[in-house]
Amino acid sequence: LRRYVTGFLSEDDMEVVMAEAPPLDMPVGSKAVVVKNLYVSCDPYMRNRMTRHELPSYIPDFVPGEVLENFGVMKVISSGHLDFKAGDLVWGITGWEEYTVINNPESLFMINHPELPLSYYTGMPGLTAYAGFFDVSKPKKGEYVFISAASGAVGQIVGQLAKIKGCYVVGSVGSDEKVNLLKTKFGFDDAFNYKKELDLKTTLRRCFPKGIDIYFENVGGTMLDAVLPNMGLGGRITACGMISQYNLERSEGVRNLYYIVIKRLRMEGFHVFNYYDRYYQFEEEMTRYLKEGKVAYVEDIVDGLDAAPAALIGLFTGRNVGKQLVAITQE
Ligand code: NDP
Repeated sequence: LRRYVTGFLSEDDMEVVMAEAPPLDMPVGSKAVVVKNLYVSCDPYMRNRMTRHELPSYIPDFVPGEVLENFGVMKVISSGHLDFKAGDLVWGITGWEEYTVINNPESLFMINHPELPLSYYTGMPGLTAYAGFFDVSKPKKGEYVFISAASGAVGQIVGQLAKIKGCYVVGSVGSDEKVNLLKTKFGFDDAFNYKKELDLKTTLRRCFPKGIDIYFENVGGTMLDAVLPNMGLGGRITACGMISQYNLERSEGVRNLYYIVIKRLRMEGFHVFNYYDRYYQFEEEMTRYLKEGKVAYVEDIVDGLDAAPAALIGLFTGRNVGKQLVAITQE
């Protein structure tokens, strides 16, 4: 990171530099591990960490001049920690760099199903979708579910889990190509391109004449405003994220908030960091779904760290189709 960011993130806010790799041998007793980073994840919350916050946020701000960090898939090169050995494949927080020394390897997860594409382990959107939908939205069979940013890393999984649960599912996305993806690849019942709709409130009324039972909120702003009057009585809004707000100096106001009272809604925010205890159950269930062909996963992989800044920015323009990640090196 070059500097704290204000306004829309630009490539110039980041730089790719050559630096010396850390010593690749860990002395025994150090408890640290050295990893080779294979994939790193681009996630919208990284933008939030690039702002200097007056009050402490839920996660520390990035520091200008330091290497960005985020979730990645890694191979252990050497280990001073008894639980890890060279060659282990793990995922967890690492640096946007080729090699990283991880001083708290207890935070890493072993990759239990290396028969799946390794890239599938990059990041936490799957667990976010799983915990957010099942633990927070608490869906029931037959309910009407609306998902924004529906072809993205989180949205595509929420939609498919909702179909498995027997819900009626509609998604909004920013291109016709993504609409097609939702309907043909992910099995959504309906989908629309919000950039082409003149009046989102009317579009949602058309899609949900009986009202929305669950809104899985990924974008906020004008979409949230259009959703609120379209919620059914006693509906739930699961607030996962509000990506439309992350590059704004000041959040947009929500004009229709009063519908929370009128429709007796429950709106609940959550953070995946509080659901790591669900991880192994999620991993087993999702592995089964993938192997049985019940869930499809679409990724958007760019090659090399040089391409990483543009890939991260692309999350905020909708350039990515599916889960955005960066392949740093082959195993
Ligand atoms: P995605 O893979 O969905 O990528 C972001 C997508 O958001 C873009 O492709 C674009 O899709 C859409 N988008 C970008 N800007 C806007 C905008 N101004 N208005 C409407 N849509 C926009 O990202 P993720 O699936 O990783 O993340 C989705 C949401 O989930 C984010 O808000 C993120 O912060 C949140 N999140 C929350 C977590 C938690 O623990 N609570 C954990 C992980 C993610 P399109 O072309 O369709 O517009």
